[in-house]
Amino acid sequence: MAQETTEITKNCPQCGAVLVKSPEDLIITCAYCGETVDVEGKKIPNHQMLPSQEGATIQANIQEFLKKNHVEEGVVIEELKAVYLPYWVVPFNSNTQYYGVLNSAVTRYRTIQSRDAQGRTVTRQVSYTVPVFRDERGSFNRGGRENCIARKHTTFYGFDKFQDSLFLDTIQPFDYQQVKKYGAEFINAEVDANEAQRDAYGRVENANRRLAASKVNKLVRCDSRIQLEYPTYVHAPLWQARFKFQEKIYKVAATGTSGTVLKAEIPLTFGRRMKNLAIGITMLLVCAYAAQWGYGLRTPDGDIETWGWILLIIGFAVMVLSFLFTSTAFRMQLEKSAKIKKQKPQKTAMNLEGA
Ligand SMILES: [Zn+2]
Repeated sequence: MAQETTEITKNCPQCGAVLVKSPEDLIITCAYCGETVDVEGKKIPNHQMLPSQEGATIQANIQEFLKKNHVEEGVVIEELKAVYLPYWVVPFNSNTQYYGVLNSAVTRYRTIQSRDAQGRTVTRQVSYTVPVFRDERGSFNRGGRENCIARKHTTFYGFDKFQDSLFLDTIQPFDYQQVKKYGAEFINAEVDANEAQRDAYGRVENANRRLAASKVNKLVRCDSRIQLEYPTYVHAPLWQARFKFQEKIYKVAATGTSGTVLKAEIPLTFGRRMKNLAIGITMLLVCAYAAQWGYGLRTPDGDIETWGWILLIIGFAVMVLSFLFTSTAFRMQLEKSAKIKKQKPQKTAMNLEGA
């Protein structure tokens, strides 16, 4: 667990208020005027934020999500709070030159002469394939942005999903009033701009290498020239909720910007588990019947008929499904995540100059 000790550093260069930080914090935002500085008191330029939906909207979305997952009556939301998490958004441009080998095969023919039983010469053609290796050189440009979470030790429920949900469509200058409005917990950064840039550099380089490797059969060389711009410091809202259902507490996470539920623990009621068990057992019976029937369908030669095989395959598929249902019957809760559409593809300029 993180220590609760806070160390008081210095006064805010803007309003003079005392800045309170934990030992790991590298960037601190003043809770009074919203000024953001590093540990030496130097101002962090261009601090931005993503605004949040109202708590009531988040709560309604959570209830809707639970309803869709058959948890409706007797749900009591006991805790609902927003956390503002720090990010570095690093814009980049890159140019990659690569060199590799492409494999292919060509078909050749060989003429074979032989003699038949009558002693005549018979000529026939035999085909064979020869592997061909070809050098491949190319280059491409790729630009966009990398989002780097500015925390090392914090793990919030639903956090993994949260990173994928960060679109910057509604970005605006940072305003501490927005944080206060929701009584949100405010988290300072433990990662500075340089470290975020190093992190982004590595990720851009790896992504370029993967892209180059996908264009050849064997990648021999890959050089990326990467330019990073100074990153933008952004705070984004993640909502955390706890709800009580049949005397147990479950967790939910939602993204503040769109209000979408990211992840939730879904309780399985006794009734629902029994229903799953019944479905599972029924499926198992269906599978046994289909398999037996399929196995019995024989051609006059004693081979299994095409329909017999189809029934055997159906039987097998039903068996796999029945395990899914039966296993759910023995679990007390499920974990559901929202499907988040991936970021719009970033501007990618390709100029392939294949050899
Ligand atoms: Zn201040």
